Amino acid sequence: MKFAVSHPFYIVNGISICYKCSAKIPVITIAGFNSIGSDLTFYNNLTFIDERLVRILTVKFPFYRIGFSKFIQKEYWANHCIYCDALQGDFFLHYEVDGTFNPQDLNNCKELILTPVYCDVSISIEAEFSQNKICGATLDVGLMENEIIIKT
Ligand SMILES: [Zn+2]
Repeated sequence: MKFAVSHPFYIVNGISICYKCSAKIPVITIAGFNSIGSDLTFYNNLTFIDERLVRILTVKFPFYRIGFSKFIQKEYWANHCIYCDALQGDFFLHYEVDGTFNPQDLNNCKELILTPVYCDVSISIEAEFSQNKICGATLDVGLMENEIIIKT
């Protein structure tokens, strides 16, 4: 689904274990509000990201880039291991019980870092929404980084 994200939205940063080389690695996703009054939602399977946001992601998080998933046989924006370069599937990160972006309790939310992103025009992405019920609590208990402002 392609949609515009209202600001602020968030880059969410966490730690995962590479399924291939077992190293501890950084992983990110994008989170935002789908409608007014809704909870924060983590997006996954991003197939399109506005160029203005891509420029930031490419510099700050080079391990997050378009990759081909053999599992779902399609290309999307995916995390890659910073050591062995293996693609870290969004299905694992967002839907498995151990997934970094599928918090099961507040302690899992506490381990995530949020970077607010502000932009004076709407930024569009194409993605799916997480069904996780408590990820919104990350706003209250997660670590908040300095904001990024996208100037147009
Ligand atoms: Zn690895």
